[in-house]
Amino acid sequence: MKHQRSTAQWREMDAAHHLHPFTDTASLNEQGVRMITHADGIYLWDSEGNKILDGMAGLWCVNIGYGRKDLPEVAKRQMEELAYYNTFFKTSHPAVVELSHLLAEVAPKGFDHVFYTNSGSESVDTMIRMVRRYWDVKGKPEKKTLIGRWNGYHGSTIGGASLGGMSYMHEQGDLPIPGIVHVQQPWHYKYGKGMSADEFGKLAASWVEDKILEVGADKVAAFVGEPIQGAGGVIIPPATYWPEVERICRKYDILLVADEVICGFGRTGHWFGHQQFGFTPDIFTTAKGLSSGYMPIGAVFVNNEVAATLAAGGDFNHGFTYSGHPVAAAVAHANVKALRDEGIVAAVHEDTGPYMQKRWREAFSRFEHVDDVRGVGLIQAFTLVKDKASQTLFDNWGEIGLMCRDIFFKHGLIMRACGDHIVSAPPLIISKDQIDELIATAVKCMEIFEQQLKERGLA
Ligand SMILES: *Cc1c(COP(=O)(O)O)cnc(C)c1O
Repeated sequence: MKHQRSTAQWREMDAAHHLHPFTDTASLNEQGVRMITHADGIYLWDSEGNKILDGMAGLWCVNIGYGRKDLPEVAKRQMEELAYYNTFFKTSHPAVVELSHLLAEVAPKGFDHVFYTNSGSESVDTMIRMVRRYWDVKGKPEKKTLIGRWNGYHGSTIGGASLGGMSYMHEQGDLPIPGIVHVQQPWHYKYGKGMSADEFGKLAASWVEDKILEVGADKVAAFVGEPIQGAGGVIIPPATYWPEVERICRKYDILLVADEVICGFGRTGHWFGHQQFGFTPDIFTTAKGLSSGYMPIGAVFVNNEVAATLAAGGDFNHGFTYSGHPVAAAVAHANVKALRDEGIVAAVHEDTGPYMQKRWREAFSRFEHVDDVRGVGLIQAFTLVKDKASQTLFDNWGEIGLMCRDIFFKHGLIMRACGDHIVSAPPLIISKDQIDELIATAVKCMEIFEQQLKERGLA
């Protein structure tokens, strides 16, 4: 593609007019942005012609990979036929009906209904309104409180940011809103030293029960968690955690909600993350992989009992102008169909996922300052540590992570630092050869990183 402007011009215009999300604008404008101009498969190119391996699938969303030719065709046809119509006033359209039918097919049994949004944050906010409405209809309007987890990420709207457990987000804008409380995350490495995984999973689940009892079960509406905490640093709970959380939620008559915005649509090798962990939520939120980022769209899946209860309540006074947008729905349909019919999710489960996990552990476990090497499917991480023997983390959490992340960037590999967790979640179409390439580059970077730690006297 030919562009009219130079990188310098773009940088100047970006600095002049564009406010970036989650960004220190002053410091960014001093450095200048990196302009990404095109992409294909698992690779991005910047305006200087550098080829970059995207080990993060954008923001954990481009599951099907970049540069598909069929999805833009679908979008073009849909725009020509029916660019927009709403679904509020007793109307529907073929694109949203087809998508809903397909989603009910790929969802686990009992999830035959979806509500559409434009993003993960909107899916979470929709879910918050839904669970509160659910208990109203059930005649228990005092059940209002939602329990989230510290270090969880549920988006950046007021509801999503409140439910999430990012304290640096809570600090801005008086969050969380009332009716949202948090429990500690199931991070074995930090909070379960000396315990077996099974023991720690049960202990972490007991924190949920403690919180229910503290608030009063008659006041708790739902417990909400990501099957694997994504932005929190790929925190994978022990196998005992989710089944025990499920048992506790059933015991106290509390809705169980999985935020599947990252785990959904094949990331773990299952269609949805809760299938990986063997539990069944009542509601689960999605976005990201639903359209692989080709269009903004999210969906809240509700089980048939929740759907029937909401239906029994008459009007649910909630929705968006673009709920079930025809173009987004058509593109999501083509994306989900391809993830299924081209065997992409199945390959993550049987082939590329296990291969990545084996190679990831072999490659990084040997490093002196790397521990807790972990992952499932095509979501993986390790933690940078000061001392492995005593499981001691670095001081100034996050500083070393950024230093490490910058080395990856410099070598044409995008991985993310979440604090001192280094995480990766590439497009699901990554081949075994490309996995080898990702790992080889990352290993080279880690050698440079450990060298720099020594030179700077940091370890
Ligand atoms: C990204 C994310 C969200 C927010 O999605 P947006 O599309 O950015 O609003 C919510 N929950 C989880 C688990 C996420 O990873």
